[in-house]
Amino acid sequence: MNTSSQDPPSRNSGSDLGSSTSLSQLQSLEGYEYDFDPPVDSRYECPICLLVLRDPSQTKCGHRFCRECILRTLKNSSLRCPIDNEPLSEADIFPDNYAKREILNCNIKCPNKDDGCKKIFPLCELKAHIQECQYTLAPCPNKCGSILPRRDIDDHVGKFCGLRIVMCTCCGANMHAQLTQDHVMVCPKVPIKCDNCHKEMNRDMINHHLQTACEQMTVMCPFYPLGCGYSVNRRQEECMAQALSSGQSASALESTQGSEADAASTIPLVFSMMEQITASFDQKIEARNKEIAELKSSVSNLKKQNTELSQVVIDLQALVANSLSKICCGKFYWTIQGFSGYKQRSLKGELVTLHSQPFFTSTWGYKMCLRANITQPQTASDGSSLQQHLSLFVHVMQGDNDALLPWPFTGKIMLALLDQNKDESLQKHVQETLEAKPNLAAFQRPVLPRNQKGFGFIEFMPVSAIEGGSYLLNDCLVVYAQVFSHA
Ligand SMILES: [Zn+2]
Ligand SMILES: [Zn+2]
Ligand SMILES: [Zn+2]
Ligand SMILES: [Zn+2]
Ligand SMILES: [Zn+2]
Ligand SMILES: [Zn+2]
Ligand SMILES: [Zn+2]
Repeated sequence: MNTSSQDPPSRNSGSDLGSSTSLSQLQSLEGYEYDFDPPVDSRYECPICLLVLRDPSQTKCGHRFCRECILRTLKNSSLRCPIDNEPLSEADIFPDNYAKREILNCNIKCPNKDDGCKKIFPLCELKAHIQECQYTLAPCPNKCGSILPRRDIDDHVGKFCGLRIVMCTCCGANMHAQLTQDHVMVCPKVPIKCDNCHKEMNRDMINHHLQTACEQMTVMCPFYPLGCGYSVNRRQEECMAQALSSGQSASALESTQGSEADAASTIPLVFSMMEQITASFDQKIEARNKEIAELKSSVSNLKKQNTELSQVVIDLQALVANSLSKICCGKFYWTIQGFSGYKQRSLKGELVTLHSQPFFTSTWGYKMCLRANITQPQTASDGSSLQQHLSLFVHVMQGDNDALLPWPFTGKIMLALLDQNKDESLQKHVQETLEAKPNLAAFQRPVLPRNQKGFGFIEFMPVSAIEGGSYLLNDCLVVYAQVFSHA
């Protein structure tokens, strides 16, 4: 379909016809103005119009004129010959048939030569040639108003004429070519895009699409008969429709889009629809609750397992510690970290008491631990202040082997504070040895996990001496104990 027909330049009726020749132009009143080839002998030129004689006429005085030229001259002026001034009347003028025959046999170039016609022919054939000359102007046979050379007419009628009949390639309708642009705007089969969702479809499908299928179309809420004034997207509406299980309620949904008059009759349907929605939600909630209960029970099982495993870890740690304490065979190192912090707490009046991990005097021996205190500064009776001391004690503990061992404990206990000077030759460990006294409560078989009474030195070493020597390394003290059991 040609939607932008552009006619080639054509001449319309009533405008200047230019050099191209139409038949009416041949009926001239003067001589022939054609391009004679070769040029006509001057004998055949009219002395009045200076052109080649048309209807040559001879006077009784022997001069030749175009018939119309001499008749006009006689009518308008004196009744004399314009050449020799002889008296002359219409009755003195005769047709010169010889000259006429001669002139009509002279060759002329086609009057359309400037438009391209190359034909040369005798003047007598002019009328016949003009009727068939392809350069002669003619009106469009469709009467569209165009006038154009005959040879261009087929092209015009076939391709450019606004009144030619064309067929729409979309819908097959026939129409004048000049109407095609208007037709494209209304043709039912032209593909166009939906303004809402931009899908492409034929124009005659768009209304149906908007009313039933377009997902982006804004429609009234399905509950508008109940007074809801919201507009919703059709896709949301379809989600609601899917929530309904039965086809009956889906058709109820569609019927809610009817007129106001239908509204009252659709209310019961809408209610039953809502009941179904509620029922479907109830089912879903029930299923969820079941899932939650199952999850809760598996979580509590996992918690229980976790607690059991934690207990296993604690037991294993205790077992490892116990085993380590047994293989030490009465030799025990105790590292006290953060000594300066304990000292500060003691200065503030706090009673600082530290217990070591337990250790065994041998694999099957007594279980013991060490206790350390930092004494508080006190004022003596004479008013002088007593300085802080590190106290060290041994405590007997309840052990696995107590039933097999002799009680009370007897033996020697060596307690030492190790000098941590990096130069071993300068190290001055402070050590004291005690002989266990069988009558002391500290060495009786324990009835508590750890005997409340210990045995050792309240003033093992002044804090100032500890700080003055090299007993502290990175704020750590190392206490060493060695127990020699007589058992
Ligand atoms: Zn004359
Ligand atoms: Zn003349
Ligand atoms: Zn021609
Ligand atoms: Zn036309
Ligand atoms: Zn069409
Ligand atoms: Zn759409
Ligand atoms: Zn609503």
